[in-house]
Amino acid sequence: MSLHQLLPLAAFLLNVSLLGIALLRNSRSRLNRLFAYFVAGFALWNLGVFLLRRAPDEPSAFGAEIIVHIGIIALPAFYYHFVLIFLDSTVERRKSLLAAYGIAAGFMAINVMGSGLFMKGVKMTTWGWAPVPGVLYNVFILSFYTFFVMGLVHLGRAYGRTVSSFRRNRAMLILIGTSLTIGAGFIDIIRFALAKSLPALDKVYPPGIPANMICALLLGMAIIRYRMFDVSVAVKKYSMYALAGGLITGVLAVITRVTERAFDLEAKSALWIVIPLGLIVTVLMGPLGQAIEDRVQRLMFSRRRGSHDTLLALSTRMGRILDMDALMHALVHGVLRGVPLTHCALLLETEEGRSFAVAMEEAAIEQAPTARPVRGNSRVVEWLRQSEDVLVKDELKVNPRLVDFFEGAENELEELHASLILALKTENKMIGILLLGEKLSGEIFDNRELQVLRLLANQAAISLENARLYEELGESNAQLLQASRLKSQFLAGVSHELRTPLNSIIGFSKVLLNRLDGDLNERQDAYVRSVHTSSQHLLQLINSILDISSIEAGRLALDQADFELAELIDECVEVSLPLTRGKPIKLDKDVAFDLPHVSGDRAKIRQVLLNLLSNAVKFTPGGRVSVGVRLDGDTIHVSVSDTGVGIRKDDLGRLFEPFERLENPVSRDVGGTGLGLAISKKFVELHGGRMWAESRENAGSTFHFTLPCVPVAVH
Ligand code: ADP
Repeated sequence: MSLHQLLPLAAFLLNVSLLGIALLRNSRSRLNRLFAYFVAGFALWNLGVFLLRRAPDEPSAFGAEIIVHIGIIALPAFYYHFVLIFLDSTVERRKSLLAAYGIAAGFMAINVMGSGLFMKGVKMTTWGWAPVPGVLYNVFILSFYTFFVMGLVHLGRAYGRTVSSFRRNRAMLILIGTSLTIGAGFIDIIRFALAKSLPALDKVYPPGIPANMICALLLGMAIIRYRMFDVSVAVKKYSMYALAGGLITGVLAVITRVTERAFDLEAKSALWIVIPLGLIVTVLMGPLGQAIEDRVQRLMFSRRRGSHDTLLALSTRMGRILDMDALMHALVHGVLRGVPLTHCALLLETEEGRSFAVAMEEAAIEQAPTARPVRGNSRVVEWLRQSEDVLVKDELKVNPRLVDFFEGAENELEELHASLILALKTENKMIGILLLGEKLSGEIFDNRELQVLRLLANQAAISLENARLYEELGESNAQLLQASRLKSQFLAGVSHELRTPLNSIIGFSKVLLNRLDGDLNERQDAYVRSVHTSSQHLLQLINSILDISSIEAGRLALDQADFELAELIDECVEVSLPLTRGKPIKLDKDVAFDLPHVSGDRAKIRQVLLNLLSNAVKFTPGGRVSVGVRLDGDTIHVSVSDTGVGIRKDDLGRLFEPFERLENPVSRDVGGTGLGLAISKKFVELHGGRMWAESRENAGSTFHFTLPCVPVAVH
């Protein structure tokens, strides 16, 4: 068989595979189906030519010509229809489309009938059999070209308007492919149509078939590279199975041969071959077959692994970012560079939840479109809310589910200028949208990439939500701090105002008790005494509140001076002695001799010591209370210990909190405000020291505080 005869067979096979791909991907899509019909026309044309070139006599050549023309006659209508669907203008151009189908049906009928009006017969030429055109043949040629040219014009116009390089490339391939075939077909036809007047034309090689092959290859490229039908994965799987199938067949062939020879089975029962072969096939279908498939798959997808790794790394990195701006930048920039893309934008739901506003965008090319906000009730958002999938814009025409959903709202999708749209969801709430441009390489996103991107979108949603919560927490913390400052200022103000009238109550009740203005009877004495002690208690409380609030408001100043600590301790022990009256308590002190002078606010340290001593006595029903002082490096360490009721382990943590009074066997009998320790601790800290407590329930407590010998500067 010569190359001339083989070419149409090769073109036929190419067209059949295109047909298979289109139907394999999605036979329910109108675009896919029309495309399949169109290439089926080509396939028939090629098959007819193959048969024609091998036809031994005139009748079989005539039969082959009829097959050739069945294919050719169907082409313009299918092509025109395909282009109209591709461009979404079937409705506008309904009439011309019907005309195309009507004309095709008419010519098809007279062709199949073998009418002489269409084709008078066949004759032998330099390159094989050729038809002898009938009266209507030229009319057919005219209509054939009219619809092709119309389709091409529409496609060409749309090509000029398309912004997306992705779609331009795809339209370009279809345009070149079909023009080439039609052009070459034209030469084919002219050759015999004008053969009478220009006999030399007969010598020209009919270029229709090779051009048809190129067309098939270009269409294939449009499908695979530019995702006409999202078949890349299908094609890869297809070739993978072909490879695995080829391997298995090869192995089987060898095994059959070897077994036949070795056991001389050629003449024996076929079972001898069938049973072991069945076994082998079973083995290959199992893990071994799987291993082969895996290997092939890895080989085919390895090129893309780079971007997978980058995107997965980005996903992990995002989990660690808490700053909103940094996070949004990491996401948009990371995706843009990771894939890499023409542009990428992040839209976040606005506070009132009615739309998604552009929060961050970045582009890798100059003419990239700028993102615009999306309405919360738009069809795109609706789809993203109810679907878990990535929205692939190019699938809009191909996927029937999308076609139905977006009917009448195709523009919405177009205006987003994105080839992939991902929803960012946390627990079913959609917080944002990620818009991805096209790949800079012009390639399509394969399924695994979509999977990784979906994963990334999930992680991004969680991270963004965390960052938002963190930001909110910061804000409410600041508000709380401000509120707390205001509270302290208020308390300081009020306490101060309360002290003035309280001082006169205390003063005048004292005057009454001293009977400076006359005698009191017993009852009056008791009342006035109660007024006096209660108001003194109140004054103490107010003073404590004033202290704590001025500390918290940052307004407490220390009255700094050098003083002798040992002497202060003597004084405090002395003052506290009356507290032990009526209790079997021994109050003592253990003070080191070599104590240096302390620089600080003597009155405040006195308050601290008195508070600790009074607590120790208060919470010790009987036993010992002692004060110890020693020098520890350049800090002075003071401790007040008792053998009293002690403090529960769980309570130790909140001991120094203001207004905390702990539950213990004597707490009900003794008064207190729960402010003493909080104030003491603050005083010590203002001096640059520390305060802490050690205690065991029923085994007494020790309160420690330190003061630096070289005092810190006091503000
Ligand atoms: P107040 O003594 O006025 O209640 P403090 O702040 O001085 O307030 O003490 C807070 C709480 O700590 C007390 O109510 C008491 O329950 C516990 N506490 C303080 N000192 C001792 C101590 N030495 N032994 C046992 N409990 C103590």
